[in-house]
Amino acid sequence: MSAGTLTGLCPECETDLTTPPMVQGETIACPECMLTLRVEEVVEGKLTFQMVEVQLRDWGQ
Ligand SMILES: [Zn+2]
Repeated sequence: MSAGTLTGLCPECETDLTTPPMVQGETIACPECMLTLRVEEVVEGKLTFQMVEVQLRDWGQ
């Protein structure tokens, strides 16, 4: 068991991600699909990610 890194799966492109230690609520950008992912849960070194919906701002014109 290696301490210091966490692993998870991108819910969008299913890329295996290895990350430095993260806590629930932190976000990371997937290097493959560039989606922003938020840590939902950390269980025994395994991360569960949730896609973050980027809210586009309506600037009007
Ligand atoms: Zn991805």
